[in-house]
Amino acid sequence: MIRFGPAGIPLGCEGGTLKGVEYCKKIGLGAMEVEFVRGVKMGRETALAVGKKAKELGIALSCHCPYWINCCAKEPQKLDASVRNLMETARAAQALGASPIVFHPGFYMGRSGAQCRPLVVQTLQRVLGKMQEEGIKGVALGAELTGKHSAYGNLEEIMGLAQEFGLERCQPVVDYGHYHARIGRLRGKKDFEKILDAMERELGGGVGKNFHCHFSEISYSDAGELSHLELGHDEPPFAPLAEAFAQLGWGGRVICETPMLEVDALKLQKIWLKAAKP
Ligand SMILES: [Zn+2]
Repeated sequence: MIRFGPAGIPLGCEGGTLKGVEYCKKIGLGAMEVEFVRGVKMGRETALAVGKKAKELGIALSCHCPYWINCCAKEPQKLDASVRNLMETARAAQALGASPIVFHPGFYMGRSGAQCRPLVVQTLQRVLGKMQEEGIKGVALGAELTGKHSAYGNLEEIMGLAQEFGLERCQPVVDYGHYHARIGRLRGKKDFEKILDAMERELGGGVGKNFHCHFSEISYSDAGELSHLELGHDEPPFAPLAEAFAQLGWGGRVICETPMLEVDALKLQKIWLKAAKP
């Protein structure tokens, strides 16, 4: 089973996150990502209320961490701030009953991936240690596949983090729009299968049991992503991915990050339902 949902409060919904959860249920979606991209501003009471509602309605929640996280920053105070932002999101996620907390790992700033990796691992280790200290359970880190060549987080790098910490603590969050813009053009089922096969090979079959990913169409330049586009340009197409998911029996969540949020999430769901039909 795959659940679909918007990245943030649906466009057609008036009100906050709680209303957003109700709206997703009303229109027939099964997931929603709570966006903390400009900071975690949700209070604990609200998070608990939203989490209760989501559980009651069967809407699976995840969170997106603030954009300014950089787990391989050169300045110690920026690393501290990254740990702080990840922890604030993790605390909110626990109250929400949400997982994973998706984050963009960092920026190379002139260094190679191999040079950045130890610092990224060390920063995430600090976060996971603090989560354990605070008794935060059931919240995984979600290392997102990033869209720009300047950003840490290609497919190998996010798989490497999942290998380092284990899938329960750190999942790879593939953003297919980002992959399309940055790594290789995704056109047919084979292109998508290659990604899923690589993950099964590196992380074991368990990776496809509860997989979390982002989908959006995208415009790009030589530097990678420019902006997210609504569905309809086949940049990349979703149907071949839906077929690959169905064929390999993968389940989990697809979060729609196009500008049309829930409208396109419903379209993705429809395409998947067609592909998954026996
Ligand atoms: Zn993201």
